[in-house]
Amino acid sequence: MSDCLFCKIAAGEIPSNKVYEDEDFLAFHDIRPIAPVHFLIIPKLHVASLAQCGASHQALLGRMLLLAPQLAAEQGMADGFKCGINTGVGGGQEVFHLHLHVFGHKA
Ligand code: 5GP
Ligand code: ZN
Repeated sequence: MSDCLFCKIAAGEIPSNKVYEDEDFLAFHDIRPIAPVHFLIIPKLHVASLAQCGASHQALLGRMLLLAPQLAAEQGMADGFKCGINTGVGGGQEVFHLHLHVFGHKA
C-alpha cells in the first residue's frame, strides 16, 4: 500500500526507532508513548485492521502475539505488560495497518 504510513515504515522509507525486525514483522517504539515503554508490532504484510483478518491470517496473528512477551522481556518489562489492538474508527484506530500495542514499564 503506497499511501500507508506503516507500510512506509516497514519498507524503511520513513525512519523508526526499531525494537525488532525479521522477514515478516517489524517492531518499533511508538512516537507518542503512553507508558515508559511503548512499542508497536506490525506485520510487513499490509492488513488494514484486525477486522479484516480471516483464517488465512491465523498464523500471522499467532506469531505477532507471541512476539509480544519475547520483545517485552527484551525491553526489560520483566513483571508484565499491556497489549492492545485498536480496531476500526469506533475502536480508536488511527493508522489502518494492523498493529499490536505493547506498553508498560521496565521492572
Ligand atoms: P492506533 O490508534 O491506530 O492503534 O495507534 C497508532 C499509533 O501509531 C499511535 O499510538 C501513534 O502514536 C503511533 N504513530 C503514528 N504515527 C507514527 C509514526 O510516524 N511513527 C511512530 N513510531 N509511531 C506513530
Ligand atoms: Zn500498510
